Amino acid sequence: MQVVICNKCGAKNRVDESRLTEAKCGRCGERLQATAGSTSKPAVVTDQTFEREVLQARGQPVLVDCWAPWCGPCRMVAPVLDQLAAESAGRYRITKLNVDENPQTASRFNIASIPTMLIFKDGKLIDRLIGAQPKQAIAERLQVALRFAA
Ligand SMILES: [Zn+2]
Repeated sequence: MQVVICNKCGAKNRVDESRLTEAKCGRCGERLQATAGSTSKPAVVTDQTFEREVLQARGQPVLVDCWAPWCGPCRMVAPVLDQLAAESAGRYRITKLNVDENPQTASRFNIASIPTMLIFKDGKLIDRLIGAQPKQAIAERLQVALRFAA
């Protein structure tokens, strides 16, 4: 069994691994996002979707990787974030924001250097990691965010 948090209402659902692809939330009926395996990639967020995908998200911490294609350290951290996304099992979400294409969000959160990783919980910015970080360091900050009560 695996615990999957509903993206819509935040309810925790116990789901048998074999049923992950068709499972629905026990509280609101929303289709649960299957998070098992390597198919789970960071979600792309933009100036247009940031409000809905990040600020209105409830329950799960949301990490936003602020990056740009020309940034070498961003490319180094990308596979680490892919791994963390694949391992999330619904506990948190990993997202990516291209700062060149989404200047509004980048300036709103004063992104001065990249990569910068922002961690939000229940619509609040609760942590910020600047520069490429080892996987363990990012995982620890996500653990702290999981325990954070707004
Ligand atoms: Zn639900």
